Amino acid sequence: MNVSLFNTMSRSIEPFEPISNSFVRMYCCGPTVYNFAHIGNLRTYIFEDILRRTLDYSGYEVKHVMNITDVGHLTGDNDDGEDKMLKTSQETGRDVYEIARFYTDAFFSDTDELHILRPSIACKATEHIDVMIALIQRLEKLGHTYFAGGNVYFSIDTFSDYGRLARLNLDELQSGARIDIDPNKRNPKDFVLWFTKSKFENQAMLWDSPWGVGYPGWHIECSAMSMHYLGESFDIHCGGIDHIGVHHTNEIAQSEAATGKTWVNYWIHGEFLVNDTGKMSKSKGEFLTLQLLKEQGFDPMDYRYFCIGGHYRSQLQFSWEALQAAANGRKNLFEKIASLMKQASYAHNLSDQAKQYIEQFETFLGNDLNAPRGLAVLWSMLRDKTLSDSEKLACAFQMDRILGFNLAEIKPIVDEVSIPQNILELVSQRTEAKRNKNYKRADELRAIVEEAGYQIKDTPGETIVSRRCNQN
Ligand code: AMP
Ligand code: ZN
Repeated sequence: MNVSLFNTMSRSIEPFEPISNSFVRMYCCGPTVYNFAHIGNLRTYIFEDILRRTLDYSGYEVKHVMNITDVGHLTGDNDDGEDKMLKTSQETGRDVYEIARFYTDAFFSDTDELHILRPSIACKATEHIDVMIALIQRLEKLGHTYFAGGNVYFSIDTFSDYGRLARLNLDELQSGARIDIDPNKRNPKDFVLWFTKSKFENQAMLWDSPWGVGYPGWHIECSAMSMHYLGESFDIHCGGIDHIGVHHTNEIAQSEAATGKTWVNYWIHGEFLVNDTGKMSKSKGEFLTLQLLKEQGFDPMDYRYFCIGGHYRSQLQFSWEALQAAANGRKNLFEKIASLMKQASYAHNLSDQAKQYIEQFETFLGNDLNAPRGLAVLWSMLRDKTLSDSEKLACAFQMDRILGFNLAEIKPIVDEVSIPQNILELVSQRTEAKRNKNYKRADELRAIVEEAGYQIKDTPGETIVSRRCNQN
């Protein structure tokens, strides 16, 4: 299967070609763990999961690295916000490391429930401070940094390509720039690599460094850890669109200034989940979590289905009504699969018609991850009266390798009342005959049952009787 992806760097859909033939190196910006993930964050991780699964499906081996931002500082570098980890610590009386651990576990519990595949490596910022310091030293040696007011800054004027990803017009920005509140900056777009002077009281997480006791700026963790695990150039970097203008722009500047090489070949960004008050964000206080959706009676798969219903590069409007509509669709899908499982076994050889559905599905997913169209193909296939039930199951399971609903784990609908009493009687006679080692009689009884349009399946614990596979 061929894959093309919209690359934010070129603003166009490009055929995907990894640096190594069949091996893909992919980095995704991970969560800040001072609070629960909101469902907007989770939308981004679901789109990244569809990407990861599409690559897996296409035969690539994917090394997927994600950072965990457990350093307590704000996720900006103006140093004008609050230390969110410390704030949560003060509010709850818990140690900052304990808070980070708690929300990291909560994050993975959410992503597991959403069937988001775990990254190959999830790396905590607090465990990679030495790697970040080494990268800052490298930048310092190359003349990309300056020390002012106790902090180490990256000087964007030393990196000629600054702002390429976001297509920033630096002249305009310079002339129209607001006066930055940090008087130490030579250019308002410069950013901190290492803080020793914090405006926060009682900064909780501090480390020794060549510049004094302090803590790293936010952007440096992604550059340092991604290169540590994936090398100085790798294939894919993902995140939400809010990261294009500052975070990813600064990540590129640091990484490419240090190595002199192109750092990432494909930049893939997901659009926002919005609600009627606009963008969902943690700092707004009230926000929706997966837990809250569950408390309202929704299954995590309802939310996955809802997200898959929108293309990752379009804004997705959240409302309870829209989620309910997705939940209905998800329920219908699961019921359809359960009823097929009751009647059919798994077909290994697909007809040409079934193969065409698979091809259509692959074409949509391969074309910049068009999962909503892929989902529509799944439904068309399930409704097609020319396919056998067992083929439908086989196709659905294959498409599900990317959609990720884990359809194969659905329990078949047990519909015993629909098996007539006389058939059940024949089945129990057969079981009796088998117990008496009268296999000839057992086979005769099986033949009678099958003749009547039912099938018998012997499993280690029990004998299951069901309607024969419907060939239409
Ligand atoms: P954070 O934990 O705030 O660093 O965000 C984690 C990921 O969620 C990042 O890739 C963000 O770009 C993304 N994100 C934040 N808000 C939203 C939203 N409302 N919709 C979709 N993605 C979001
Ligand atoms: Zn990042």
